[in-house]
Amino acid sequence: MTYLINTASDFPSEALRGFVAAHPEYVTGVHGGVVRSTDTPAGQPALVIGGGSGHYPAFAGWVGPGMGHGAPCGNIFSSPSASQVYSVARSAENGGGVIMGFGKYAGDVLHFGAAAEKLRAEGVDVRIVAVTDDIASDSPENHRNRRGIAGDLPVFKIAGAAIEAGADIDEAERIAWKANDATRSYGVAFDGCTLPGAEEPLFHVESGQMAIGLGIHGEPGIKDLPLGTASEVADLLFDGIMAEAPAGHSGRVAVLLNGLGTVKYEELFVVYSRLAQRLEEQGLTPVQPEVGEFVTSLDMAGLSLTLVFLDEELERHWSAPVDTPAFRRGAPRDLLALTDRPARTEYFTPGEEPVAPATEESRQFAQSLQGVLDLFEATCRTHEGELGRLDAVAGDGDHGQGMVLGSAGAVQAGKKALERRAGARALLVHAGTAWAESAGGTSGALWGAALTAAGRALSDDLGSDKSAAVRAMLNAVEALQRLGGAQPGDKTMIDAAVPFAETLEQEFSQSEDLARSLTAAAERARLAAQGTAELTARLGRSRVLGEKSVGTPDPGATSFAILMGELGHHIDQLQQSQQS
Ligand code: ADP
Ligand code: MG
Repeated sequence: MTYLINTASDFPSEALRGFVAAHPEYVTGVHGGVVRSTDTPAGQPALVIGGGSGHYPAFAGWVGPGMGHGAPCGNIFSSPSASQVYSVARSAENGGGVIMGFGKYAGDVLHFGAAAEKLRAEGVDVRIVAVTDDIASDSPENHRNRRGIAGDLPVFKIAGAAIEAGADIDEAERIAWKANDATRSYGVAFDGCTLPGAEEPLFHVESGQMAIGLGIHGEPGIKDLPLGTASEVADLLFDGIMAEAPAGHSGRVAVLLNGLGTVKYEELFVVYSRLAQRLEEQGLTPVQPEVGEFVTSLDMAGLSLTLVFLDEELERHWSAPVDTPAFRRGAPRDLLALTDRPARTEYFTPGEEPVAPATEESRQFAQSLQGVLDLFEATCRTHEGELGRLDAVAGDGDHGQGMVLGSAGAVQAGKKALERRAGARALLVHAGTAWAESAGGTSGALWGAALTAAGRALSDDLGSDKSAAVRAMLNAVEALQRLGGAQPGDKTMIDAAVPFAETLEQEFSQSEDLARSLTAAAERARLAAQGTAELTARLGRSRVLGEKSVGTPDPGATSFAILMGELGHHIDQLQQSQQS
């Protein structure tokens, strides 16, 4: 558990503030995260590395000469939002383009991807490297589809060193992918971790057991085995990785033994002593091995082993000097050359986006849409605990929290937009951006895009109109499908959203009664969401633990159905009060 908290919801931002205060010679805080406080040579590609908070030293601890140029920092275990990534990348970029690096998770893919799109639209060359080192999360043939765990460190270290040595963006991207393809990790957990302020850990491992194939967001392992001795655990991890050793490897390997949060350094060394023996027996030479905490998962009890099968190029960059708050290597003289750079002074600051002028009718419509956002926030708060529990079964337990943060962010942005005389379209576009930004996470990005898409179906001229409302909702569901890429049956919110849209369209074309069609559509979504209990998750965070999700309805489908149910009720009451 976390003992020292001021306010649980402020925990990640307060930790980040303290981190920046402790390391001003390395980092400066900017909107959404940190960037180097020292200048970089003009034309040098910027390596922007990130993910959720709760993993320190990953990722902000690795910003400095020889490694990262900036790190967007999301909430605990949730991806930074697209606008955080955008802001950090804008501040770090120095004329050489941007390489975005993150562990492969759906939320990070969505948010980094959206930020990359925006930067590319502005003429910045952006490359994306998603780290996929966890061998427990997918088959060897699908290496680039696996999730990223402690392999983040060697991949970003190697890419950062290549950039320091003068690589341009093509070259740096090539080396980063090569490092990822040469990196394999395997982990085991002895107990779960607890979100700051939460009463209960996200999962428990039964005593005397260990969970093989841990995730770094409190995802439970993929299978349980009886707890072994330190040497047995070392063998299990080592043999698991060696089963995938590339044919014809050089015999030289970077080794990372990573503690997840509560395994002591001495325990790690006990494990390492066995690993050293196994490496030798196999004729492998460990190159600058690292034993300690690198990619943590709050207070999770567990550890992972990472091997990078090195060639001459990868070894050179793995061994090169680096100077960051949490990872340093090299002779003092080398480091001086790295660090002796003038301070940076110019950073990007996000401006207030303009609000398009709107007619009185559209502003009234916007007022009633704000009422819907209020309703969403209140509903998310009521169901926060239940949604979190559903998500903890095969995901990371944050769905309730994400929905509350997202809807509350949307309400705040909506209020501000109304103060600035926004119409219906502007209100939803602003609220959508804020939802994605405040929630982080996969569902946050999708809900944000859905609101923005709903806004695009409306205008800032016309007043409220039932068929426009239906069009807006259909547009929103279309955006969910397009951006998330999920099919019905994948066990996501799409399983509720698609039947919802079908029924809404059908009923409304027959009856032209909004409340009636919405109520029918919401009921269909409710049944469909319940029905997802029988499905196996194939997408998103839960896909790794797909089998464990059987028997539990999908959290995102459930929250979708709950919100649409409340919306139907709300519209029904509005219609009745208008009729009487
Ligand atoms: P995260 O997975 O980032 O922790 P949440 O817990 O807030 O985000 O949301 C999880 C939900 O997101 C899932 O239950 C699922 O309904 C939805 N989801 C995940 N991936 C997709 C996708 N590709 N398309 C549609 N919905 C998705
Ligand atoms: Mg989640």
